[in-house]
Amino acid sequence: MNTDTADESWLARLPKAELHLHIEGTLEPELMFELAQRNGVKLPFADVEAVRAAYQFDDLQSFLDLYYQGMNVLRTSADFHDLALAYFRRAHADGVVHIDVMFDPQGHLKRGITLQTLMDGLLQAMADAQAESGLSTALILSFLRDLPAEDAMAVLEAAAPWYNRIAAVGLDSAERGHPPGKFAAVYARAKSLGLARTAHAGEEGPPAYISEALDALDVCRIDHGVRCIEDTAVVARLRDAQIPLTVCPLSNVALRVVDKLANHQLPAMLAAGLNVTLNSDDPAYFGGGMLANFNACATAFGWNRETFRMLATNSVQAAFMPEGRRSALISDIARH
Ligand SMILES: [Zn+2]
Repeated sequence: MNTDTADESWLARLPKAELHLHIEGTLEPELMFELAQRNGVKLPFADVEAVRAAYQFDDLQSFLDLYYQGMNVLRTSADFHDLALAYFRRAHADGVVHIDVMFDPQGHLKRGITLQTLMDGLLQAMADAQAESGLSTALILSFLRDLPAEDAMAVLEAAAPWYNRIAAVGLDSAERGHPPGKFAAVYARAKSLGLARTAHAGEEGPPAYISEALDALDVCRIDHGVRCIEDTAVVARLRDAQIPLTVCPLSNVALRVVDKLANHQLPAMLAAGLNVTLNSDDPAYFGGGMLANFNACATAFGWNRETFRMLATNSVQAAFMPEGRRSALISDIARH
């Protein structure tokens, strides 16, 4: 075998950092049923198979409808802890060494779940994972862009007791019709608090939303960003500034951003010299975690080890982690 071939076992051992992961999107059907039973929540599905059968999406909105329904089983700190720790263990088994974890407080607050309940569960799971496997994590408090900016501001203010536990703010949910500029004041406030900033842009929304996220929100990276390739000026800007793009290949196929992986924008993005990273987005819903995404790209694009080392290094360089850990991981990747 060619020693430069990135086969599954080599990819599994490649140290990987995940920058685009929604913790609510890690809810596997089995745990959904377990938590529904624990909390006496009635699910509109007969069994696990019926849930999996429902995971056929037409677009982002059809996914979000199911996503918010599944979230309803999460009620106590123990539920959030179990959800997060289960994912951290699966990710560790995939060779993931660090995760920037996005979470959506507004999806829980509107159901009567307090921020304290949510944070207690997530922080305990993060501590447990660190102790168990050395997995490092950071939190990205994400706003639902289809809700008013005032709601996002209220969540940001309510999170004050945890500012020292939150690395960044993010922006997710239905992109079309909700341009980044809507949240300019919220992001300015986050910046004044010393929080880093990321935003979903250019997944279903136009390339102009990517520029707008950079200009109006002063983000340090763009989540998705794949539609940049439709605008040469946006590509040039992303390349020149080396803005990290957190691309989610299997998510893009599941939500029909592209019809199949072989037609994905990724090869063109690499050829353009963009700072690309690979991520799973909502792995319970989109066909797998980090290793599944890396494997699918190896199959679809035939990338060699050097390319995957570069992608893994990009992720570690852009992750919210201490500098000592960052340089150690970059050395680990170079030696792998
Ligand atoms: Zn996402």
